[in-house]
Amino acid sequence: MNYISVPLRLLADLIDMSRSHVDDITSGVEEGIYDAAENQDIGAKEQTIITAETLYREAMGVPASPVATTQCHRCGSNVTGGYCSDDTCPYSDWPQCVPINDLHDNTLDAIQAKHNLRKRQRVKAEIHSDDRLFVANFDAAAWLSQADDEAIIALHAISWGGDYASDVVAEFFEATNSDIANIFDYCRKTHNTSRAMGFECIVEEISGLAWLKQHRYGLWARLVCENEGIMVVKEATNNTYGWDDAKSNESSWGYSTAEDAAISAVKTFHLGEVA
Ligand SMILES: [Zn+2]
Repeated sequence: MNYISVPLRLLADLIDMSRSHVDDITSGVEEGIYDAAENQDIGAKEQTIITAETLYREAMGVPASPVATTQCHRCGSNVTGGYCSDDTCPYSDWPQCVPINDLHDNTLDAIQAKHNLRKRQRVKAEIHSDDRLFVANFDAAAWLSQADDEAIIALHAISWGGDYASDVVAEFFEATNSDIANIFDYCRKTHNTSRAMGFECIVEEISGLAWLKQHRYGLWARLVCENEGIMVVKEATNNTYGWDDAKSNESSWGYSTAEDAAISAVKTFHLGEVA
């Protein structure tokens, strides 16, 4: 086979054009505008694009700067974010400080009580470059555990993804997650080109709320109330809080914090019990 060098930008433009051509044919066939029989080569075209995208990804994906790591004392895999990176290792769910015998001999409740900690509650999150050539899945729990209430409320307000309040979640992990660092490197490399690439980060609301329910119960209650249309309001005259649903049910007043008022509403309406 003969090879020639192609400028990366040219390859990127060709991929873009080919992609829109194939998408156009595919949707046209579905809508009956194009004849499927005349476009039987669409699968081969798709494969060609995937090959070109792979080449482009390899050329653009610079090895991320080395991330400081420690090794799991049981299996030797890298420990990232406090947990073993091998999902088959028990320390992928427990911190290294728990002795292995405790994990073998005790129940979940007993381990949690003895070491005053919780089994890992993962928070599923994804980041991808806008062209989706680079995608990484990660656990956003470490971000939640250090974020203040305002940052989490802002994330909830954008439905947990696709805006500034979720961008900061991915940025938080750049120094410790080489897959995420690689995506930022890729985006930066494109910034002075005509094909400047952004990224999008999405945190899964269900697992995010499950984490909050376990670790930040009062804040979780506030967000659940918001989802259910129950307003937690501040009484201006005496600086206490209460709640008010859409059907003119009201709490008795006098909760000292918004979280206490929200917890009262959660109990009254049995909210979030399925999760
Ligand atoms: Zn391990």
